[in-house]
Amino acid sequence: MTEPTEADLTGTTPRRNPKPAVETIGNRRLKPSTLMMGHGFDPALSEGSLKPPVFLTSTFVFPNAAAGKRHFEGVTGKRPGGAEGLVYSRFNGPNQEILEDRLGVWEDAEDALTFSSGMSAIGTLFLAFVQPGDVIVHSGPLYAATETMIARLLGKFGVEWLDFPAGATQNEIEAVLEQARAKGRVPLIYLESPANPTNVLVDVEAVAAARDAVFGDAEEQPPIAIDNTFLGPLWQQPLKHGADLVVYSLTKYAGGHSDLVAGGVLGSRKHMDMVRAIRNTLGTILDPNTAWMLLRSLETLELRMTRAGENAAKVCEWLRDHPKVERIGYLGFLKDDRQADIYARHCTGAGSTFSLYLKGGEREAFAFLDALKIAKLAVSLGGTETLASAPAAMTHLSVPDARKAALGITDNLVRISIGVEDADDLIADFEQALGAI
Ligand SMILES: *Cc1c(COP(=O)(O)O)cnc(C)c1O
Repeated sequence: MTEPTEADLTGTTPRRNPKPAVETIGNRRLKPSTLMMGHGFDPALSEGSLKPPVFLTSTFVFPNAAAGKRHFEGVTGKRPGGAEGLVYSRFNGPNQEILEDRLGVWEDAEDALTFSSGMSAIGTLFLAFVQPGDVIVHSGPLYAATETMIARLLGKFGVEWLDFPAGATQNEIEAVLEQARAKGRVPLIYLESPANPTNVLVDVEAVAAARDAVFGDAEEQPPIAIDNTFLGPLWQQPLKHGADLVVYSLTKYAGGHSDLVAGGVLGSRKHMDMVRAIRNTLGTILDPNTAWMLLRSLETLELRMTRAGENAAKVCEWLRDHPKVERIGYLGFLKDDRQADIYARHCTGAGSTFSLYLKGGEREAFAFLDALKIAKLAVSLGGTETLASAPAAMTHLSVPDARKAALGITDNLVRISIGVEDADDLIADFEQALGAI
């Protein structure tokens, strides 16, 4: 909501008409961490309130009948340029629009949309692109609910899928794309990197090159979407590496306090318009209260993620040589292989979520988890507090044994998400918990 539309200038819609956004000073382009405090909101439009109020309303008043007609001409496509302004809260609202503007800033995205959860964002994205007979191509593994959505939910409507392993090379990805194309229309290439829970990185540049090689610049060229929940927006920005759409569970690092559930999609306007149309129809938009909480979260995003990343580096360095530790799956420890090369090209930080493999099995993993005093025993990640869980016995309990083994989800695996506590306090906690095994 930063650029006044033609309709704002003629005063024919109720759209707010904010002051022009300050995005530069001289030649200096302001950084996202600066823009998070003011971008997209003009206090003068809200009684001088420094912070945006929560706009609790289901509908918005048109200034006159002609403005109402003009709006619906935009919605229905009778007038080019789409809908303007605020009209009904299933479509948009001030809190959500400010949040979307600020979210887009982090990745320099043309457009951004927010949703009631990460899964409603992902579901709305799929519904925007797929039709019966299509073959979705995706990297594997994916977040379990995303796999369920593709295989079971979309499967019920005649949508098929093919996958390639997260670490695949351009040639391997091309082979899967060719195979998919022979079966049906490929509507979307869907990635998750790092993959959950294996932490394997996807080579987004190789995926884009494979897509271009197989589909040329043909009309049928499928967009590339990627779930960037684990490293975004601070440590990985896939739009710069060839992705068209980026998906978030904002529940995790972006929300960052384990107190809300939300989702986001960012990307090129052409593709986002398709996603917006489905969100408008379904009502998968985020509510204004949670949008307001996320505005607060984004003000400290860089601080929180930076501290969590530094904490994780210290903790992992301490854990790696401990006699009760078998190995650690942490992006900061990759070296001299294909994964390290992808990391060097795509990532600017290793994140704070990693896999700890203890010597032993479920008994040792449970003893460790039960002894933790600071870290909480809970699923999820990206909050201010450190969380730990046992995927084989919890989030991935229903995954068949053979697939668990293939993914490295063994009984001795503990997943840890490091928060912003004092790093040495966390090390003391892990030391005493390892001692309790
Ligand atoms: C949590 C998560 C999701 C789902 O998000 P919700 O906000 O729980 O709906 C999707 N992808 C990844 C990688 C996640 O960690």
